[in-house]
Amino acid sequence: MRIAMIGGGYVGLVSGACFAEFGLHVAVVETNPDRLSALREGRIPIYEPGLDVLVETNARAGRLTFGDDIAQAVAGAEAVFIAVGTPPRNGDGAADLQYVHAAARQIAQALTGYAVIVTKSTVPVGSSRRIAEIIRATRPDLDFDVASNPEFLREGSAIDDCMRPDRVIIGLDQKQPERARRAEAVMQRVYKPLKKIDAPLVFTGLETAELTKYASNSFLAMKISFINEMADLCEKLGANVQELAYGMGLDDRIGSRFLNAGPGYGGSCFPKDTLALSRIAQEAQSGCRLVETTVQVNEARKAAMAGRIIAACGGSVNNKTVAVLGLTFKPETDDMRESASIPILHRLAEGGARLQAYDPVGMDAAKSLLPPETTYCENALATAQDADVLVVLTEWEQFRSISPNALAQRMRNKIIVDLRNIFDPAVMRESGFSYLSVGRP
Ligand code: NAD
Repeated sequence: MRIAMIGGGYVGLVSGACFAEFGLHVAVVETNPDRLSALREGRIPIYEPGLDVLVETNARAGRLTFGDDIAQAVAGAEAVFIAVGTPPRNGDGAADLQYVHAAARQIAQALTGYAVIVTKSTVPVGSSRRIAEIIRATRPDLDFDVASNPEFLREGSAIDDCMRPDRVIIGLDQKQPERARRAEAVMQRVYKPLKKIDAPLVFTGLETAELTKYASNSFLAMKISFINEMADLCEKLGANVQELAYGMGLDDRIGSRFLNAGPGYGGSCFPKDTLALSRIAQEAQSGCRLVETTVQVNEARKAAMAGRIIAACGGSVNNKTVAVLGLTFKPETDDMRESASIPILHRLAEGGARLQAYDPVGMDAAKSLLPPETTYCENALATAQDADVLVVLTEWEQFRSISPNALAQRMRNKIIVDLRNIFDPAVMRESGFSYLSVGRP
């Protein structure tokens, strides 16, 4: 079976490679010349554990190709996936659909026979029907169906999420049952290998599938904002948020994941998807106060964490050296989009701080987003050199094993603000640090 994937970014490249691993022939179309030439030369333009091997194996087996010629890619494809970006539109928080709509027009012009056009990008409710309208307007003669197949992979564990998903949501045009059946048959074949591992394929209407993605991400974001507020409360009451989260999470109605207090959620999905869902609800004149509040709590969180670092330095960071460990929005990715490090470091730079930072893979992407005067260091210990305060912003595994004594030897003032709770407070205090973390006494 042949399929085409429009967009070779975090979603298109990973899911394209996983489909190839399932045995499908996948043609990835990528228009960014840097990303495309990297892929053609066998280099992976993003950091995702295991992706290099998966891409290399499947490219060598002839099941995975990369190009910018959409006509070539969609020739003979039974399904064409759209996996282009849907960033927030400037100003109102709604998703910017210009890349999705452009892809729909290009697909319509290029197709020579029947295919299902499948949206993997996260798009507002009504987008799949709009894509169908665009395709009909571009090519009135074309026989096609649309499907909504939102992607739930998480950067850092994206391959496992694609190969062993908790569920696959597939929205079809149930108002046209014949068409829905035809498209379902194609999607069943695309995802056939998942039947062996009993991963549920959930077939819904188009609107439900589109909304399920926003609802899922907003719910997870809400969990994070909730535990961040609990962390503040723990600090006021002398309780411990890690123990509280553990106790809560053992209840399987709640679950233990997404209950880590920290500097606020970031990334390419939660911030934009919570804003977009708020916008979708406003347009539908339906209440969405929990999600709106989640967004507000998260914004306030980042500002408060910058304030916490400044307070730890005695009320001013002017001329203080702040060492920052971790810049990406979470570990195991080079993705800097909407990372909490961005507003926090800008706030510190405005306050006159000298910033020296280290991230295992995110520094290249960070350079255009962080204050230009930031110094980038070779490793974690070099970052601590002569620092007045050390701040942990991303919980990379390698930071957990840093020796407190090695830090103490290098730092000018022994102050740590650990916004990811990676260190043991007792050990840090024994090593002579003034140690602040999140929601722990
Ligand atoms: P991305 O920016 O990394 O990748 C999109 C790619 O599409 C870019 O490389 C861009 O050059 C390419 N592109 C744009 N228009 C094109 C066209 N007409 N033809 C060919 N290529 C084109 O974005 P991403 O992180 O992969 O996200 C894509 C979508 O998936 C978004 O809607 C996002 O919300 C959603 N999503 C992302 C994640 C994630 O973790 N990144 C997870 C689930 C869903």
